[in-house]
Amino acid sequence: MLGIAVSATLLVVMSVLTSQANARAVELVGFPITVLNFLSIMIAAFVLIQFERMAHDRDILSAALTQTPDFHYVKNREGKFVIVNKNVAEHHHYPSPAAMVGASDFQLATQRRAEMLYAEEQALMESGQSQLDKIEYLSEGGRDRCYSTSKVPLRDRTGAVIGLAGATRDVTEERKIEQELRESKDLLSLAMAGMSDGFAMFDRTGTLVFSNTQYAALFPLSGEARVPGTNIRDILKKVVESNERRDFRQEITDAWLSEAAAALFFDKEEYIELYDGRWLSLRTRVADNGMALVAVSDITTMKQAEFALRTVAEQMKSLAETDALTGLLNRRAFDHAMSVAVERSRLERRPMAVLMIDVDRFKAYNDTYGHPEGDACLKAIADCLRRTMNRPQDVLARFGGEEFVVLLPDTDGTKALVLAEQFRSTLLARAIAHSGSEYGVVTASIGISAKSNWKQQISAAEFILEADQGLYQAKRDGRNQAVAWNPPRTSRAAR
Ligand code: GH3
Ligand code: MG
Ligand code: MG
Repeated sequence: MLGIAVSATLLVVMSVLTSQANARAVELVGFPITVLNFLSIMIAAFVLIQFERMAHDRDILSAALTQTPDFHYVKNREGKFVIVNKNVAEHHHYPSPAAMVGASDFQLATQRRAEMLYAEEQALMESGQSQLDKIEYLSEGGRDRCYSTSKVPLRDRTGAVIGLAGATRDVTEERKIEQELRESKDLLSLAMAGMSDGFAMFDRTGTLVFSNTQYAALFPLSGEARVPGTNIRDILKKVVESNERRDFRQEITDAWLSEAAAALFFDKEEYIELYDGRWLSLRTRVADNGMALVAVSDITTMKQAEFALRTVAEQMKSLAETDALTGLLNRRAFDHAMSVAVERSRLERRPMAVLMIDVDRFKAYNDTYGHPEGDACLKAIADCLRRTMNRPQDVLARFGGEEFVVLLPDTDGTKALVLAEQFRSTLLARAIAHSGSEYGVVTASIGISAKSNWKQQISAAEFILEADQGLYQAKRDGRNQAVAWNPPRTSRAAR
């Protein structure tokens, strides 16, 4: 308003001056009056616009200074306020910013604090060195506040310091949030350090950004690479170079590294064995923001228990499948092996044979030599079977009592007969005395069933029945011999 008023006055003054000048000019040089009038109006308008622009700029500056949420002030060389904004005045309970002009910290703060501020500000103005973001904690009305203050020296045209400008910001809330964040980070680190598991966080590029000490400690050979800032590719390289993982034995190629590094970004749970026999579980989860979180646990004890349990289970299984007296498979296990073998041989069109063996006159043997001797004799017969049919795929079993059965995969009738004869001769060669036998020694009769062409569907039970029929035939034909049920061929051995 003041600007406009001044401009208007100026315009009037100028117009008066120019019109007087014009009148004289007409008289003196004959200059046209209208031109001079126009000129004066133009100058007046220009001045008016300039004033308005300055006023506008000043209004903006003034608004910025008074309405900012911070405290702004200018002090003179003696430390007295020259300008303050509304916040400063209100904070110190002055009715207006103007009312604070001339006041100093000695009227606003305790004597001690005022002296401290004065000394500080004088030093600042003498040295010409600014003070930036100085943090102060003040108790105001029983509430703890935190302020950040910056002060800069003000100089005149000659460069002499004439005062200072200050800006103070209440950063209590910011600080509180920072503090809380720091505390929760500390708490997290503490929790991470306290857990026995290793924990690591990788960003989208595969760079390790956070890990606890256990994470590195769980991998003794690549531990030094497992620190924040290292990329998964370099960690993997170290693992391979040091042979740390038993399942990682390969050449380090770019393609392999890329593939292995990419695998980090899939949810999974893996169990890995280390060079020293320890087992680790690696659980990977990919977070919504694309980061991969890895938890590592030492599961060696669990794995050992698992292995021990597996061994026991295997032992139990073998106990359940084995005949206690002879150590051969028992009937139940044989039945299972037999049905599997029949099915597989038929599908693959491969030959297969079964021998059914029965000890001759064994009741008499028991009666003569006693049951324990009978048992020893059964063991000797099992031993003869093992010596004869000793391929890994041959299945030898005690069928029950003094009967044995042998499953011979990939064996045709001819070969089966040869094996049966070999067994019979081996037993004869043992020459186990048997006074109750017409042969004077322990002998056995054998029935054979063999399949080479699988034209007819045949069950395991039918297969065994055929062998059994061969066995009966052998008994009928005088014992101590092998009879093949199909094709019907008989071999009678000499004594
Ligand atoms: P064959 O020549 O016709 O086969 O006459 P065998 O006397 O062998 O026939 P039988 O089936 O009548 O007799 C089998 C005997 O085997 C009867 C039984 O006492 C004996 N036996 C069965 N199991 C065992 C065993 O585990 N130990 C002993 N010592 N004897 C057994
Ligand atoms: Mg019998
Ligand atoms: Mg018998």
